[in-house]
Amino acid sequence: MNNYPWLKVYVDQWHNLVKTQSAPHAILLSGAKGLAKAELAKMMAHISVCEDLQESSVCNHCKGCHLFNSGNHTDVTIITAEKAVIKVDQIRQLSKDVVLSSTRNNYRVMIIEDAEKMNKASANALLKTLEEPPANVIIILTTSEIGYLLATIKSRCFKVNIKSNDRQLLIQWIQQNCTNSLDEINQAMLLSNDSPVDSLTILKDNKLTSVRFMLEDLDQLAKRQSGVLEISKKWLKEESLNNLSLIAAYFLNIIKANNSLIEKSILNSLSHTNYANIQGLDKKILNFINKTYDIINRLRTPLKPELMLEELLISWQNDFVVNDRLS
Ligand SMILES: [Zn+2]
Repeated sequence: MNNYPWLKVYVDQWHNLVKTQSAPHAILLSGAKGLAKAELAKMMAHISVCEDLQESSVCNHCKGCHLFNSGNHTDVTIITAEKAVIKVDQIRQLSKDVVLSSTRNNYRVMIIEDAEKMNKASANALLKTLEEPPANVIIILTTSEIGYLLATIKSRCFKVNIKSNDRQLLIQWIQQNCTNSLDEINQAMLLSNDSPVDSLTILKDNKLTSVRFMLEDLDQLAKRQSGVLEISKKWLKEESLNNLSLIAAYFLNIIKANNSLIEKSILNSLSHTNYANIQGLDKKILNFINKTYDIINRLRTPLKPELMLEELLISWQNDFVVNDRLS
């Protein structure tokens, strides 16, 4: 049932809580992006609705398990953002549903994925439900941005911070799920801030190649061997902007390498450009990363990113070539 080994400890804990009938009514699963928190919430829901819970797993033969596995369990509701926002109507519906009793005389589970996407009205509506949840209701919130949640919501939840310090375990899991080399896996881990799920996406979608090409473009631009318009056009055409966050992650790692926080050698296989000797490097890179995130945010709106992209590339060219030379 659990395809994510780093979640085992949390699944086991929840299993014990449900088995001993001491499960809390509101749980907040927080932690970095790409650790499969939504999957964990679903596993917890499954455990909660299994009607013949075994010693260490769900039974997979009871009616509750059958309904859950077919995605038709009426006691399990999953709320996700509609157009980047969890709307107040969605939470109001949830509040109406929680007072209904379970159709199978068991727990009723509500999952709110990416709870930070609740707007103010939604969060306040949820607060009312969290104040007095009915006895058989379990509300599970997930978030990668705990700082955006209202303190009053956090304080009413049993908080679980999902993490995995066992890098080897994460790498093994990626290896089992792809055919890439260990070197490429390490690069993907670096660009995804050690997220196993995001690393796998990077590798499966062949994004490392795209990142290498984009870094080469930036290098060409700095050496004045390519022009801003040329590269801007190319990136827009190849939908490279979807990989901008990886470029930002790469440069954040350049700062780390520059300050001896990580081994520089892993970065070398993505680009051979040596940034180490550039004056005011950290500041210039942070400026570039900020501008990059402006574009990433713009991509979530209907506004066109062209001008911002050109601005980013011009400032890159100015920052990295006028006063300094790239080797
Ligand atoms: Zn079952």
